[in-house]
Amino acid sequence: MIIGIHMSDKQQLQSEVNNDSNRFSSVIDTAFDGIITMNVSQEILLFNHAAENIFGYKAEEIIGKPITMLMPQKFRASHAAYTKQFENSPMQSRDMLSRVMISAMRKDGSDFPIEITISKIKVNGNMEFTAIIRDVSHRIAYIEHLQKQINTDNLTGLKNRNYFDMQLQDMIQKFNRFSEPFCVLMFDLDKFKTINDTYGHLTGDKVIQEFSTTAKLLLREVDLLARYGGEEFVAILPNTQLAGAMETAERIRKRITKIMVLSQKHESITFTVSIGAAEFTKQDDIKTIVSNADEAMYRAKHQGRNRVSD
Ligand code: GH3
Ligand code: MG
Ligand code: MG
Repeated sequence: MIIGIHMSDKQQLQSEVNNDSNRFSSVIDTAFDGIITMNVSQEILLFNHAAENIFGYKAEEIIGKPITMLMPQKFRASHAAYTKQFENSPMQSRDMLSRVMISAMRKDGSDFPIEITISKIKVNGNMEFTAIIRDVSHRIAYIEHLQKQINTDNLTGLKNRNYFDMQLQDMIQKFNRFSEPFCVLMFDLDKFKTINDTYGHLTGDKVIQEFSTTAKLLLREVDLLARYGGEEFVAILPNTQLAGAMETAERIRKRITKIMVLSQKHESITFTVSIGAAEFTKQDDIKTIVSNADEAMYRAKHQGRNRVSD
C-alpha cells in the first residue's frame, strides 16, 4: 500500500523518467504552436495537437509520412537539399523567418502562411529536426485588410487621396521613362453645400455615392478615380491626351445631370459637377499637375459651373 517508500533505485529512476516523459508530452500537447519533429529521411516522428489543428491531419495518419506532405508542391523538390545543408551546418537552430512568410499546405490542399523556427538535436546518435510553426494566416489577412483600408474611402469604396498620390507618382515615373502621355481630371460637385443644407447630410452622402458609381462606370478599367476630399474627386487617365480627357470629362458631366437622387423625404434631386482637365508635361511635377487640374476646375466654376474646362 505504501507505494514509493520502498522503491528500488531502478524503480525510482524509471519513475523519474516517466515523470519527465509525461511532463514533456503535456507541454508538447498544450503548446499553442505546432510542433513537428522529423528524422534525416524527412519522415515525421512527432506531430502535436496544435499541428493537428493547423494542418488538419491526425497524428496517427501523418506520423511516418514525408514532411513534404505539409508543403505546397513547388517547395517540395528543394526541401531535401535544404535539410541536408542545415544538418551539416554548425548552426543549432535557425530562425528561418521572423519576418518573411513561407507557405505550408493543409490536408485539404489549401496554402497558408506560417512562421517557422527549426532546430536540430541528436537523439540516440541520430539527428532529428524540430519545427515550431505558427499559422499566421489571420494576421496576414488582417494586415491586408488594414492596407486596403488605408487606401480606400469608406463612403464610396473608391481609392482615397493617399492612394491617388502614390499612383500619380508612379505615372510620373512612367512618363519620364516612356513619355506615355496622361491627364488628370479634377471634379467638384456644384453648390453641394446647398444640397446638404436643404436635404440633410445623409442625402448629401447619397449624392456623393451616386456620383462615384456613375463616374467610375464611364471611366476605363485602367483609369483611376479617387475621392480627393469632401465632394471633390480626382482621376488619372493613362495614355490619354488633353482632347481625349476633355471628351471623357464631358461624357461624365452630361451623365451626372441625368441622375435622380431621392431625398429622405422622397424629393427628387438633381445635381451637377464642374470638371478641370490637365495634361502632364515635362515641366510638371506631382504638385503642379494637381494644381493645373484644380485651376482648370475653378475656371469651369467661374464660367458658370456644370462644365468642363482646361
Ligand atoms: P461650389 O459649387 O463652389 O463647389 O459650392 P459648394 O457648396 O459645393 O462648395 P463648398 O466647398 O463650399 O461646399 C462643400 C461642402 O461639402 C461643404 C461640406 O459640408 C460638404 N461635405 C464635405 N464632405 C462631405 C461628406 O462626406 N458628406 C456630406 N454630406 N457633405 C460633405
Ligand atoms: Mg469643394
Ligand atoms: Mg463644390
